[in-house]
Amino acid sequence: MTSPFAEPSDADTLFGLDALGGPAAPDAPAERTPGTGPPFHSSPAARHLLPVRTVYAEPAAAASPRGREILARFPAAEVIEVASHWRIPGLHGNEDNVERWVRVKGETLVLGERKTLTTRPNGRSADFIAPGPSNGCAMACAYCYVPRRKGYANPITVFTNIDRMITHLGRHIARQGRKPEPNQCDETAWVYDIGENGDCSVDALICDNTADLVTAFRRWPTAKASFATKFVNPDLLTLDPRGRTRIRFSLMPATDSRLLDLRTSPMADRIAAAADFLDAGYEVHFNLSPVVLRPGWQNDWTELLRHLDDVLPHRVKQQAAAEIIMLTHNEELLQVNLGWHPRAEDLLWRPDLQQGKRSQNGAHNVRYRNDIKADALNTLRRLIATHAPWLRVRYAF
Ligand code: SF4
Repeated sequence: MTSPFAEPSDADTLFGLDALGGPAAPDAPAERTPGTGPPFHSSPAARHLLPVRTVYAEPAAAASPRGREILARFPAAEVIEVASHWRIPGLHGNEDNVERWVRVKGETLVLGERKTLTTRPNGRSADFIAPGPSNGCAMACAYCYVPRRKGYANPITVFTNIDRMITHLGRHIARQGRKPEPNQCDETAWVYDIGENGDCSVDALICDNTADLVTAFRRWPTAKASFATKFVNPDLLTLDPRGRTRIRFSLMPATDSRLLDLRTSPMADRIAAAADFLDAGYEVHFNLSPVVLRPGWQNDWTELLRHLDDVLPHRVKQQAAAEIIMLTHNEELLQVNLGWHPRAEDLLWRPDLQQGKRSQNGAHNVRYRNDIKADALNTLRRLIATHAPWLRVRYAF
């Protein structure tokens, strides 16, 4: 039997577009040697993920230094002025966009200024959730919670006033002082999640927002940036984070990923990149997420954990930790998915296993029933203890 972690086949391309009958992607990004040759963001593979044709821009965002940098990176794109990056007519509320879900993600960008700068306490994955440099994503995971408030389209909105965000963060970090005691987020540093509503690795294809944040955290010895990613962007290897940024590669069995993680880097590439990122100065953790319950899930997670144990070098294992996040879903997202990728819902929408939960904003969310979730978490923890005992579980949710 072919290993699910073997080199991607024709049907398992870099961005998973074949799952939807889209064009095959060019070369995988991991092959570029960092620091040599042109940046990855100008490569055919990057342009394949982000063939930007339309930029909706608030005037101030377009005129800002960051906005000008972005527009220069996509010189052929049509720029359409909008009063606000939020609820753009014809984009966010347009039901017809569901059929173009993936296309809109790649061909459209939005530039805006982040008006509210709020850092929220978290305490699970990170101590705090920072005001992120973007909202939205060019990849297309069928379970993604980011579009829940946007409806029908979820392209990347880049916030161009990154300098204000960094000033805000610097003050917030200074106010915390030293971390008094270790917790599940980190032993010594206050951890700030900088990518709650997007993927910082993909944002780095568009502009230097991610680079600016990684650079800023270098000079804050009491804090650490953290972001989850499903994309291997070799340009990040040149940023010299000096241990102050934690990158969390999201992992799930390759069979689930091929159906659910569209447009992302193949699982084998994310795993193979771990040592490169560690050597480049990142702390490298893993998000085992989302855990999707279906017949045979235990065997496929076993295979994934064994593979990690086989291929990861000792230095990666020594510092690795994992978060486990069970799938949650949402009725509005179900309706959107039925419009562009209904097969994903065979795995995601499982009323026989799930219970409803009305969220604070009134959305109808679902998650696995308490007893089923507890059993599954116990099973996964047992599998980790057996097949990847070096993998400390920071938290399971
Ligand atoms: S990579 Fe993250 S932000 Fe992007 S679509 Fe997937 S889950 Fe959403």
